[in-house]
Amino acid sequence: MAIVNKIIHSSVVDGPGNRAAVFLQKCNFKCSYCHNPETIGQCVQCGACVEKCPAKALSLKDGKIVWDEDKCCECDTCIHVCPHMSSPRVKDYTAEQIMEQIAPDLPYIRGITVSGGECTLQRDFLAELFLLAKQQGLSTLIDSNGSYDFSQDAELMNVCDGVMLDVKAFDCDAHKKLTGMSNEQVLKNAVYLAEHGKLEEIRTVIVPDQLPNEDTVFQITKLLKPYLDKKQIRYKIIAYRQFGVRSPYDQIFRTPSSNEMMKYKKIAEDNGFENIILI
Ligand code: SF4
Ligand code: SF4
Ligand code: SF4
Repeated sequence: MAIVNKIIHSSVVDGPGNRAAVFLQKCNFKCSYCHNPETIGQCVQCGACVEKCPAKALSLKDGKIVWDEDKCCECDTCIHVCPHMSSPRVKDYTAEQIMEQIAPDLPYIRGITVSGGECTLQRDFLAELFLLAKQQGLSTLIDSNGSYDFSQDAELMNVCDGVMLDVKAFDCDAHKKLTGMSNEQVLKNAVYLAEHGKLEEIRTVIVPDQLPNEDTVFQITKLLKPYLDKKQIRYKIIAYRQFGVRSPYDQIFRTPSSNEMMKYKKIAEDNGFENIILI
């Protein structure tokens, strides 16, 4: 069983081609710029969101939160009032149930991407889901913050075609300040996955004046340059945007200009990257 925040049946932004995307609840990072902070925590059934729901779609039954999807008007009040960075709009699914959910999509999708939160926190579910997805001929991608040691999990790697890896900051102190966690494992993963042809994409969110963006783009592309001959690695350089970001960071951070973004693209190009996407 995994706690699932959302299933998107057709996505063109979660890896190559048209894909099903499954977003799991819970994350071990607490990024200040997180666009979906309600995916970080796990619901503790406190009930604080129940009386705030304007559609009466929430209730507590036997100490457990119940969400009536039919009544929900998707106003997001519950996730804004939740003191635990969680959401009552989650569901438990087995890997088989996810495959049943996406069965009608199979003729139209090329693969499945599992994201979060941090999906590797629910590793057993992930391995089982990918095994089932492969049996249906789907490609399988993980979207990860890089905190999981992929090198120690041959079983998962056997059913995973690639990892889209966040490289939020190359400098460890900057990474800790942003996420609350070290980036030591992230950088080890970058090299391990590149060596094994499983680094599908790296991503960096650019937050001007708050993060050492130039250093991150330069250092990570330099680190991965030796592996580009084997396989070009896509680099998605993402402009910070305010949408969904929690207070007070939404008031502190700013979006970079397109000129700033072009500067980072050039740094990556100079280190041999050809497949760079600015968004
Ligand atoms: S979603 Fe948040 S506010 Fe609602 S019951 Fe769970 S922990 Fe409490
Ligand atoms: S989004 Fe949350 S608060 Fe709004 S109607 Fe749905 S359950 Fe209720
Ligand atoms: S790793 Fe992703 S999901 Fe987790 S807190 Fe950071 S931005 Fe949010």
